[in-house]
Amino acid sequence: KRANDPRVIAESERLKTELTKFWNDKKDSPILKQRQRLPAWAKQQELIDAVERNQVLIVAGETGCGKTTQLPQFILDNAIWQGRGAMTNMICTQPRRISATSVASRVASERGEQIGKTVGYKIRLEGSMSSSTRILFCTTGVLLRRLTEDPLLSGTSHVIVDEVHERSLDSDFLLVLLRDILPHRPTLKVVLMSATLNALAFEDYFKGVSAVSKIPGFTYPVNEHYLEDILQVTEYQPNPGTEYFKKAPRRRDNFDASSRPVSSKDGDIPDEDSFNITLRDKGYGDNVVRALRNLEQGLINYELMTLLISHICESMDEGAILVFMPGLAEITKLYEACGANPTINAATSGGKYLIALHSTLSTAEQSIVFDHAPDSVRKIVIATNIAETSITIDDVVYVVDSGKCKENGYDPNTRMQLLLEQWVSRASARQRRGRAGRVQAGRCFRMYTRHVHDTVFAEHTLPEIRRVPLEGLCLQIQLQRMAGGIAGFLGKALEPPKVESVEAAVASLKRLGALDERECLTPLGQHLATLPVDVRVGKMLLYGSMLGCLDPVLTIAAVLSGRSPFVAPLDKRDEADLAKKLFAEDQSDHLTILNAYNGWQDAKKQGRSSEFAFTRENFLSWRALEGIADLRNQFTQLLNESGFLGSSSKKKGGGRYRGRQRGNVLETDVDWIRANRNSENKRLLKSVLVAGLYPNLIKVDPGSRPDAPPRLSFLAENGRTEKIQIHPSSINFEAKKFITKWLVYHERVQTTAIFVRDCTAVTPYQLLLFGGKIEVQHTQGTISIDRWATFQAPAKVGVLLKEIRNQLDRVLAQK
Ligand code: ADP
Ligand code: MG
Repeated sequence: KRANDPRVIAESERLKTELTKFWNDKKDSPILKQRQRLPAWAKQQELIDAVERNQVLIVAGETGCGKTTQLPQFILDNAIWQGRGAMTNMICTQPRRISATSVASRVASERGEQIGKTVGYKIRLEGSMSSSTRILFCTTGVLLRRLTEDPLLSGTSHVIVDEVHERSLDSDFLLVLLRDILPHRPTLKVVLMSATLNALAFEDYFKGVSAVSKIPGFTYPVNEHYLEDILQVTEYQPNPGTEYFKKAPRRRDNFDASSRPVSSKDGDIPDEDSFNITLRDKGYGDNVVRALRNLEQGLINYELMTLLISHICESMDEGAILVFMPGLAEITKLYEACGANPTINAATSGGKYLIALHSTLSTAEQSIVFDHAPDSVRKIVIATNIAETSITIDDVVYVVDSGKCKENGYDPNTRMQLLLEQWVSRASARQRRGRAGRVQAGRCFRMYTRHVHDTVFAEHTLPEIRRVPLEGLCLQIQLQRMAGGIAGFLGKALEPPKVESVEAAVASLKRLGALDERECLTPLGQHLATLPVDVRVGKMLLYGSMLGCLDPVLTIAAVLSGRSPFVAPLDKRDEADLAKKLFAEDQSDHLTILNAYNGWQDAKKQGRSSEFAFTRENFLSWRALEGIADLRNQFTQLLNESGFLGSSSKKKGGGRYRGRQRGNVLETDVDWIRANRNSENKRLLKSVLVAGLYPNLIKVDPGSRPDAPPRLSFLAENGRTEKIQIHPSSINFEAKKFITKWLVYHERVQTTAIFVRDCTAVTPYQLLLFGGKIEVQHTQGTISIDRWATFQAPAKVGVLLKEIRNQLDRVLAQK
């Protein structure tokens, strides 16, 4: 039908004319020459034919061979030449926001165009696209949301799923949906792109409709140097009893503790070009073995890394250095250790040109990594694993690999999702090493021993679906209204999660009130499913918005998702504790943090010097506070987008937020006054805390003697009550008396005993209204929440509370 639409025909003609002109004008341009040198270019026709012939094509090829930037263009240009340009609507998903934007701008510039014309991007809360956009780069999450509105992707001709080998939760989820769509959309083409060659699993998953195309890559050989080589220890015997055996990543599937001691004399480490780092001169001396052990345990030795980097700079041939660090904090630390100012992400310092590369940078900031350094200056990129496959830096000759990454994981005790520092897998380590051989033979320095690599590293990273809590995913599934329900759907995944994990997630969602007994989304669940944050944090944000205490709730939710701004240096712990106590309020760590944050905001208004004085005197981390401010902004935008902040929040025009800054919150179209009509009401605020943190509850019982400390217990997942202690960093540590019988908390950790860090004293009525289910037994006058928290109260109060709760539910349902 569309093929005969005169407008479509005219648009196709226009595209053809433009492309012809582009080729006539630009055929000798350097950027085109660069494209033509990519391995993917040589396979252009073959790839186009393979896409034509198969409904699903899996494209595997070395990172940097041109999959992401070239393949969408090959498909589009081919369609344009054949006069079908306007009928091509491609969606290309990326695992990260930053890759979506940077790839889109690269592809647009390769076509000599502005972004937002033929090539556009869309990430949550941001985008640049128009009616003439034919290639849309977006995050996987954006496509998933589009699928809830348009389950058959009616206007789309091609879906390209990039970096499928990463096996993110979103992309595994997307594959299930796509596989279901295929029979209903015979003209839809799906292309999966993968860096490593584990294409077989995907081919099998799409059996009968798929084929694999490989793009041969070429890399120069890379010499590897393990830690013992770097430290020049020839007879290192790893101690099998050391900590790293216990600390070995629990969730790795193939960890084998039966290890053999390895001497560095094994293997093929070249002797003649070993290092001249005279560690003895630098004060290492006899500590070398201890340093080795520390590093094996996963502690990052910044001194050694700086030393190594300087050594490469001073005595090795030219070529950029790429350093892999686990996360932003570690990047910053090394960056500072190398002598650069951490507030600037690209700095020159003593013959070094240092660039930080991580996912929170803007596209412009990030594109600096592609620049070549001036002569006699060494380019050093310190990156997260974003430089492993998503971003290729062409001039890298040296790789320094910390061997670590931050991975989504979760703590089964708290059921909280965490970013955990992990050893990378051997596959990742290989990939990192390969980054050194793009332009010439390179070298890879590994900050771990061969022994750790061989025995502790897993072969592959476990897919995310196997290691993270599934609450968010379950909500997503129900939002897509998939037949077969949650369990049925997850059973169809490439690698289905464990049944117990699914059951735990469903149970937890029921407790939170996001799913009803039949596992259907409740009104609350419906809203939570559209907020891409931890469900508990999401619930807190929703209640905070509805009840008009947005500002403080934003801060507390941000702290719960990030980290506490309080720091306690070892030598000044007492001082730091005292400083913290000054912010204390109402036996609540959460309110304490809120007061500190607000104090910082006030100090900030008086200028930079008072801001820094404030953070220093109060033992606050400036960086953590900035992080909280940033998250607050994101949350505000998310809530606004989902229409929770009332008023005229529906965006006009391009969807960008207009607005002034108030403190650090974007005061956009949000009716800030209304959203904060109850922000001074601390009791209400505590209620919102209960809404988010329940059922993380501690019961306070009086001590056995009048002067004994109160006894604290919590209800464990197995249904038993267990003893719990308050961590010394809490303002409630060693409290003699509590103002109420109940505390809510966020995290529970098990070390020598079970501890909670941050807790807040709450009243029974707050629990009744905002906690779990209420059962009222009229005759006995007892009210109980989830049976555990039972207490006496006049029956009439119970009936009243139940009524109020029902009203709250109704408000949510009407939203
Ligand atoms: P793949 O997806 O196969 O890993 P890409 O298509 O991302 O490969 O990259 C192909 C080539 O284009 C790489 O050599 C890379 O260095 C180069 N490239 C990609 N993005 C940019 C950019 N923004 N600026 C300069 N070069 C880039
Ligand atoms: Mg790519």
